[in-house]
Amino acid sequence: MTIAANAYIRYCRKRAAMSKESATTAASEDQPEAKPRAKKARGRVTVIRERCKGCGYCVAFCPTGVLEMSAEFNEKGYHFPQLVGGRDCTGCDLCGMYCPDFAISGARVPVEPTDEPDIEKQEQGVE
Ligand code: SF4
Ligand code: SF4
Repeated sequence: MTIAANAYIRYCRKRAAMSKESATTAASEDQPEAKPRAKKARGRVTVIRERCKGCGYCVAFCPTGVLEMSAEFNEKGYHFPQLVGGRDCTGCDLCGMYCPDFAISGARVPVEPTDEPDIEKQEQGVE
């Protein structure tokens, strides 16, 4: 075999190895690593009744409309907000941002992916 033939064979082997390597890389790019499942979250709203002055801003600005003014009075004699349809609270905390008296706040509460939805656990948090 001539020197030229040997060089050509080496060239062909090198090309074959390179194409095999690029095929393996492409296959691994097609199948990205499985990402860990993100935890779900639900909203929770907390009302400190005695701080409330009954202005109703929180009710007016809640984007999901899950707040209403209670028929009850606090110690100051004001109606205070309460949650209706607790499953829809997103925990966005807009109510907390609008409240001039820091009497209400929303939060996102992480939930394990295996948790079953339980409406009883989503009750209003009242201090
Ligand atoms: S915004 Fe604050 S003070 Fe006004 S009703 Fe809501 S909780 Fe009460
Ligand atoms: S946290 Fe957001 S969705 Fe929940 S009650 Fe407050 S404003 Fe409404």
